[in-house]
Amino acid sequence: MEKNLRQALADTRVSEIRYFESIDSTNDEALRWIANGAPDLAIVVADEQTKGRGRFDRRWVTRPDTSLAFTLILTSAFAEPLKIPLYAPLGGIAVQEAVKNLLGLDARIKWPNDVLLNNNKFCGILVEAAWHGTDLQGVVVGIGINVSAESVPDPVQQNFPATSLESACGFPVERFELLKNVINAFNAWRPELGSARFMHRWEEKLAFIGEWVRIEQSEKTSIIGKEVGIDPSGRLILVDDDGRKTLIEIGDVHLRPGPGRDTGGSHAG
Ligand code: ATP
Repeated sequence: MEKNLRQALADTRVSEIRYFESIDSTNDEALRWIANGAPDLAIVVADEQTKGRGRFDRRWVTRPDTSLAFTLILTSAFAEPLKIPLYAPLGGIAVQEAVKNLLGLDARIKWPNDVLLNNNKFCGILVEAAWHGTDLQGVVVGIGINVSAESVPDPVQQNFPATSLESACGFPVERFELLKNVINAFNAWRPELGSARFMHRWEEKLAFIGEWVRIEQSEKTSIIGKEVGIDPSGRLILVDDDGRKTLIEIGDVHLRPGPGRDTGGSHAG
């Protein structure tokens, strides 16, 4: 397995590889590696995660032999900590492009950090920053992709309907070939972080664009509005019937397809 991984990544700009059959979380290993001096574009790959994490310590399920779970380590070019929220969409753009080029699938990026096929989640992205006091030491971009149908967690473990790449395309997917494509797309887009071209691509591939959506927030009323785009700092723009705008900050919020304009929740504005 590890030999196949190293062969597949030989054609990428990855600097060093750490592969594990099983690990707690590839992001945790990446953060430990940064603390001991990881080079830029090092990667942690695991066949299984026993404590895979989503945002706010929610669980990300990675069963052995079924998924792709990896974390890319970025330790150079950190002049702009303000751009950190844009790394999850950078991962989303890379995954979207890789599954299009390799498998012909038309995935959509669900703001802020998931990727969907036919409105079902097959990929989650978790970005974390490593600080030493006020110095940014690096950023880790963790990406989990459901490859075979067996990767999809039980419905009780899904907070949003889930799917896998093979269920969507109907043929076997070579995991490390996919990884190579994601990494190459990531590196091609990395210098564009936050550029007009980057924001345009993100918006163009956004799930539910032009549709009514609901933003669920813990312990607050949901916000309902039509999803019209993203602002330059990555906030989601919703508009209500009267054209009033609300900007949604990336945080502990959940985006859901909207129930339409006349049910529950407070409207954008
Ligand atoms: P939401 O998807 O509700 O908008 P989120 O973006 O914060 O929330 P993530 O942090 O990306 O969610 O992922 C964690 C959630 O994803 C878990 O709470 C779980 O319900 C779901 N999940 C866990 N593992 C998988 C998987 N392999 N495939 C699809 N969904 C998963």
